[in-house]
Amino acid sequence: MTAFIKGVIGLSGEDTSIIYDYERLLERLYQKVPPKSGTAEYRIPTPEIMRIGNQTIIRNFREIAMRLKRDPTLVARYLQKELAAAGSYDPNTGQLVLNVKVSRKVIAKFLDLFLKNYVRCPTCGSIDTRLERRGKTWILVCEACGAEQPVKPF
Ligand SMILES: [Zn+2]
Repeated sequence: MTAFIKGVIGLSGEDTSIIYDYERLLERLYQKVPPKSGTAEYRIPTPEIMRIGNQTIIRNFREIAMRLKRDPTLVARYLQKELAAAGSYDPNTGQLVLNVKVSRKVIAKFLDLFLKNYVRCPTCGSIDTRLERRGKTWILVCEACGAEQPVKPF
């Protein structure tokens, strides 16, 4: 019942906590899906791109980040660095606006690279991993096999 009331408040725009509750729920759902080893077939959603002038909007960005099991702001920062472009993520709409003209193909390529370098365990291939910051070092920690791998910070 509490969740329902929060939901109603959330819809009125006065309280966004329900959005985060929903995200946590989805996150838990993803975590319950057992990761397959060497999941070459693990797919991230095709980026839905909208271009307006010199801006590129990724409309399903939050969904993509969830599939990558990473905070959208982290994935946004990665894309901004790779594309050398400023951008802003809107947690309300789940969209990322990039101040650069870029094709769906290029964005998909970088998302694949992100999956390969910052999500998938190089030891067992599981995507059931997390990124840990230890001082200046970033470590990709695998929940499946326990392997720890330093990765390039961005
Ligand atoms: Zn592993």
